[in-house]
Amino acid sequence: MASQRQIHVGDVPIGGGAPVAVQTMTKTETANLTATMSQIHRCAEAGADVIRVAVPRDEDAEALKTIVAQSPVPIIADIHFNHTLALKALENGAACVRLNPGNIGGPDKVAEVVALANRLGTPMRIGVNSGSLPRHLRELEYTNPVEALVTAATEFVELMERLDFTNFKVSMKSTSVPNTIASNRLLAERIPYPLHLGVTEAGTKWAGSLKSAVGLGTLLADGVGDTIRISLSTFHAEEEVKVAWEILKALKLRERGPVLIACPTCGRLQFDMDSVVAEIEQRLEAYADPIEVSVLGCAVNGIGEARHADFGITGAKDAGMIFSKGEPLKKVPTERLVDELFAEIDRYYAAGKTVVRDARQAAEAAQWLAENEDAEAMTPERLAALEDAASEASGGGEDVLAAAGVRLSEDVSPVQGRRFTRS
Ligand code: SF4
Repeated sequence: MASQRQIHVGDVPIGGGAPVAVQTMTKTETANLTATMSQIHRCAEAGADVIRVAVPRDEDAEALKTIVAQSPVPIIADIHFNHTLALKALENGAACVRLNPGNIGGPDKVAEVVALANRLGTPMRIGVNSGSLPRHLRELEYTNPVEALVTAATEFVELMERLDFTNFKVSMKSTSVPNTIASNRLLAERIPYPLHLGVTEAGTKWAGSLKSAVGLGTLLADGVGDTIRISLSTFHAEEEVKVAWEILKALKLRERGPVLIACPTCGRLQFDMDSVVAEIEQRLEAYADPIEVSVLGCAVNGIGEARHADFGITGAKDAGMIFSKGEPLKKVPTERLVDELFAEIDRYYAAGKTVVRDARQAAEAAQWLAENEDAEAMTPERLAALEDAASEASGGGEDVLAAAGVRLSEDVSPVQGRRFTRS
């Protein structure tokens, strides 16, 4: 369930049914203004709604004045252990202050920060980490880490409410994906405040993205979570933003930029799709519209499941075809497929989002498609369709592959078997 309450970090609403906000954290020394502002701009361009900066020293708190003034998105100050820095961050214009009430020096100091935040109308993020739970919860952490996290968070929430402060969001971070899911589900039932989601120290770009997608995606699919941060071991914070967007786009929670769909390829692959997909993905970054672009590795299925795509390509050895919404547009030499695809996309925008069709070229492409289609081929797509149909007919129990006489071998690496390399 979405949080009942909403806060505003600068002009960005968080919680209460607002779109899930994307955030990241700069990895630069905050007081290094050139490096920090450059990273903030890259992250904002990649789609960060809000950006957090670490404030471990006085000079970082001082730098906030300039950063807040120059940043295109609201800035959150990340404070640990030192309530004086939290006070300075608030005075210097931070749009939100993140702190762990358990490590800031005691209830009096928390109250001092809260009083100033209340006076300025600035929200806070209060967060607990599985690695730094209050001492009295250490035993519970052993026996029930999820309950320990949730108890720590609710104790902080109660502390804020006793201080008459409700302008906050809450985070519970764990390196464990199951604990992240379980604790946030539980907390969402217990408190009405917005939740900041993240899997802490998720790891490298590959593993960390997957862990985050599983953990955060599960929660978001249930409607739990109001803002997300992907934590990756990379200096390039904008990569975290891109992963966050892919998760939101996959769940259709938000739209941003094109959606690229590509077949998984198989032994019918007719051209070097790996490099084609990589190039298309990179070139699509220049487009803001949520158009859908599909890449099929061969034409034996026809346009098949890519029928709904705004634009798509399918290739064979020497020639390929560009299509739009299930209709052939033109046949082109394989080496020109990508350039011609983007030429068609650009033509579409130049014509006011209208697909421009040349009847002669479309007919030539349709003929090429008819020659390359193979209605008998047992492709992955047709196998899936068969499985679906049989599963529906039998209530889900029938082994359709066996019924179709198909045996899959795991002995040979598909990478070894790849035949096509794009020159
Ligand atoms: S049969 Fe399907 S998965 Fe295999 S290359 Fe063709 S489109 Fe891709």
